[in-house]
Amino acid sequence: MSDQPSPIMEIPVQPNTPLDPDVMFAALEEKLSQQGHTMDIGRIRAAYEVAKTAHSGQKRKDGSPYVTHCVAAADIAADIGLDEDSIVAALLHDVIEDTNLKHEDIARQFGSQVADIVEGVTKLTRVQYTSKEDEQMENLRKMLMAMAKDIRVILIKIADRLHNMRTMDYQSPEKQRTKSLETMEIYAPIAHRLGMQRAKWELEDLSLRYLDPQGYAEIMDTLNRRMPELEAFMDRMKEQICQRLEKEGVHASIFCRIKHVYSIYRKMYTQKLDINGIFDLCAFRVIVDSIPDCYNVLGIIHDMFKPVPGRFKDYISTPKPNMYQSVHTTVIGSEGIPFEVQIRTWEMHYTAEYGIAAHWKYKMGDGSSAVRSGDEDKFAWIRRLLETQSESDASDFVHDLKIDMFSDEVFVFSPKGDVINLSAGATPVDFAYSIHSDIGNHMVGAKVNGRIVPYDTVLQNGDIVEIRTSKSAPGPSRDWLNFVKSSSARTKIKQWYKKERREENILRGRSMLEDELRHMGVSLEEALNPDILHPVMKKLSFNEDDDLYAAIGYGGITVVRVANRLRDEVKSARPDHRNPIDKMNDAAERREQQAKRDGKAIHGILVEGLDNCLIKFSRCCTPVPGDDIIGFITRGQGVSIHRKDCQNYRRRDTSPENEGRWIAVDWANTITDVYVTTITISSRDRNGLVMDIATVLNSVNAKVRNLSSRAVGFGQAVTVVSLEVKDITELRYIMNRIAGVAGVSSVMRNGS
Ligand code: MN
Repeated sequence: MSDQPSPIMEIPVQPNTPLDPDVMFAALEEKLSQQGHTMDIGRIRAAYEVAKTAHSGQKRKDGSPYVTHCVAAADIAADIGLDEDSIVAALLHDVIEDTNLKHEDIARQFGSQVADIVEGVTKLTRVQYTSKEDEQMENLRKMLMAMAKDIRVILIKIADRLHNMRTMDYQSPEKQRTKSLETMEIYAPIAHRLGMQRAKWELEDLSLRYLDPQGYAEIMDTLNRRMPELEAFMDRMKEQICQRLEKEGVHASIFCRIKHVYSIYRKMYTQKLDINGIFDLCAFRVIVDSIPDCYNVLGIIHDMFKPVPGRFKDYISTPKPNMYQSVHTTVIGSEGIPFEVQIRTWEMHYTAEYGIAAHWKYKMGDGSSAVRSGDEDKFAWIRRLLETQSESDASDFVHDLKIDMFSDEVFVFSPKGDVINLSAGATPVDFAYSIHSDIGNHMVGAKVNGRIVPYDTVLQNGDIVEIRTSKSAPGPSRDWLNFVKSSSARTKIKQWYKKERREENILRGRSMLEDELRHMGVSLEEALNPDILHPVMKKLSFNEDDDLYAAIGYGGITVVRVANRLRDEVKSARPDHRNPIDKMNDAAERREQQAKRDGKAIHGILVEGLDNCLIKFSRCCTPVPGDDIIGFITRGQGVSIHRKDCQNYRRRDTSPENEGRWIAVDWANTITDVYVTTITISSRDRNGLVMDIATVLNSVNAKVRNLSSRAVGFGQAVTVVSLEVKDITELRYIMNRIAGVAGVSSVMRNGS
């Protein structure tokens, strides 16, 4: 593969005589030395010798020694620009699968990195492929990515597949079809996601050749027939553009090519067009030195030719998720023939052609080859790839692409070959319930990769999981709740208990509640009195005492929640005149204590470096989710949370001893509590003011805890409202509405 795009992609000619691997390897050596790498050629040659010996006696379908495939894969890896370890691994990529050599043999001679890569490629090779629905396909792609812990595993697998596709003619029609389908559905999209346009196009064109030989031949015939005319057209256009750019003093390289067969094919198919109906068969690429030059060239092109409306796309200002950058436009040439022009810098060009692999090949900008090693750089590149994800279609795919890709997911197979996507840490029980609750409920055993395993075994990517069931299974065990990872499995287990074990649940639930109340120091007599119990039940939507106990018993509602409600009800049945904020903070403190016992995050607040610390919301500024917040470590009362714009924070004592007590905190992702906050409304003192404010509050369903208004002289009034909100968005909305009340001059949050 040279950097100069050829006018039409050539399918390599299949050899008639067996290939000589030594000749091929010599050519690879030559290529590597020409690329100017500082690779240890001796080590690469040693890998070749090992592969040659290990595969000796094995033949490819074309009669060549098997090792020719290994050299060819390494050669593609070199073209892609991979590093020395990758070239070594590419040479050895089939030895674990097809010869007696093992991971440790490779590790001993070439290091564990190479051995890990080879093992990774082997694992991918072993994944069984059957055509599936789109969603399954996406999961299969993700699974392959997840299995390849090192991105080089995928890149070598793509090189391997590319060579196999190039030499597919020797395979049976059956194998040609399945491999092409797999390539089209798995490997070409992966190459695309990694930004490797060149490999992607070739994989697609080669696959199409076997998937629709007729359609492929038709396009090729037409292109070949029209080639003289198209080439003449391209030459004329290129000449015109060259001259003009020169005149304008723009330094640029111009390439033109016929579009890829598969892109023409897809266009015919999606737009229901005959090939003669497709006009823009030619594409031009103008490569310049800088981004301003890109736009400069765009202006010149649009000045020379009439642009086709709606075809201008600026992927420089908005790169594609796979890092692709260029500006595209389609213009009408002098003979009324449209053609596409892509304008980009050299750096963008290398990224477009080689995608993620460009990292190993080129340094920024000048295109000189510079192989970098070391994990730091590699991660930086991938991080860059991740950070620029903006489009949603591919973002959930590439989003998790890091070296431990998809760290929160695991992909396993059912015995039928379906890919099941589970949370990381999932067990055979999660798997069983993800298939069907009946499978989980009747589970009597689990096998992973053919071996019987304990139920709490943590599943790994690519595991084949089989569940044994029996009609007479005893049903799920409560212990399972301790290790299942997915909430759906948890819910289904609880549902089973709810349905199958009502009597047991009622007894269990009642005794749990009694224990909890005793623990809280609440009198059972008082709390379980119908006058207290029934209103609480009603609020929690239970009709019968037994329903409530049963729900507690199977875990449908937490005992803490019920007990807290009962205690609050008992308390509020007694007179209590404290202000609402005090009450809130009291209740908050109780929940904290409880959550501390339960070991859960509380109040939706995460405190840096501290688990389960006591949280208190400051009364001065009453933060709500969405506010920028900061914590202050109080003496003996945990961390109190302030807004960053709170006066007490802004005007803090910055002596070292005090400054150290301010600590980073943040809102957790899941906010379940409501938050009380206070706002101050300044207004004209007029008749009906309080009524109008109350009406607005009512109309937006604000949960008001307290409202007081007083005249402050000079015809002005100040109204203070404490209310419950779930976050800053709701609060801002309410504040905006109040600001609209006649006579109101400002609505401020307290504390700032
Ligand atoms: Mn192979």
